[in-house]
Amino acid sequence: MVLADLGRKLNAALSSLNRAPVVDEKVLDALLKEVCAALLESDVNVKLVASLRQKVKAKVKASFEGGADKGKETNRKTVVQKAIFDELVQLVDPGVEPYKPKKGQPNVIMAVGLQGNGKTTTCTKLAVYYQKRGFKSCIVCADTFRAGAFDQTRQSATKAKVAYFGSYTETDPVAIAAQGVAKFKKERFDVIIVDTSGRHKQESELFQEMVQIGEAVKPNMTVLVLDASIGQAAEAQAHAFKDSADFGAIIVTKMDGHAKGGGAISAVAVTKTPIIFLGVGEHLHDLDKFAPQPFISKLLG
Ligand code: GDP
Repeated sequence: MVLADLGRKLNAALSSLNRAPVVDEKVLDALLKEVCAALLESDVNVKLVASLRQKVKAKVKASFEGGADKGKETNRKTVVQKAIFDELVQLVDPGVEPYKPKKGQPNVIMAVGLQGNGKTTTCTKLAVYYQKRGFKSCIVCADTFRAGAFDQTRQSATKAKVAYFGSYTETDPVAIAAQGVAKFKKERFDVIIVDTSGRHKQESELFQEMVQIGEAVKPNMTVLVLDASIGQAAEAQAHAFKDSADFGAIIVTKMDGHAKGGGAISAVAVTKTPIIFLGVGEHLHDLDKFAPQPFISKLLG
């Protein structure tokens, strides 16, 4: 089920509450069953869904017992709707503030992720995003593994009018990353984005390389670029990267496609790491800033 369908189903479940003459445990259970089924169909982790159900029930029960409903059905409905809304927000909010780049100093952002997830595209989108907001931005292509990676960076950075650094001859990604970051720091760039190699699988070699690049460029923030269309596999992938690269933020790409999105959402909870942007298309400006509450509000329409 794609994300828009999830929104529709959640919305339908919540509005069914308005038609119920009384809000009792039976009505709440039926509602939660619908909400949980919709989340599961969207690939949200089964444990997270079970925990959401339990938390909503506990909250509603405490509210009713505390007299928050004051016996009125409309109040009871509001209590239930708010509890579900808040728990949906909790699903995508690990309660951790992501790093915020500051002007007038170098902010090094390192992007990691498997090949094809949209890392190179996202690096350019990020550079454009910050450049538009007055940060002098640039990209360092430290991907020496994939033939054509530097060409891709060169083309998209040129199109985006963003400075870039890379090499056709140097084969050591750590050396390129270090040189590029040193050069751009000297030239007083505010946002320096380092694009690393992505392999097809979670190979140990890829992780070692990331760790070495990280040691060389000391990023202020490491971002995991995660493809929404990989479904439940997102969780395991995020786990593997967290163990070796310890990223501090997630960007979920391809949210415009037929992605279910729930797998990527679960990766937030599993790694306790915030999503900072969503990739919503192939173009340079197709990057939406992410915030938990507006995301759930929009999802519910
Ligand atoms: P990398 O191997 O991780 O660097 O991935 P690329 O940046 O080369 O992207 C792989 C493919 O995904 C390309 O065809 C991109 O245009 C596409 N892509 C990246 N981000 C998005 C997105 O947010 N939405 C859509 N629809 N496609 C995307």
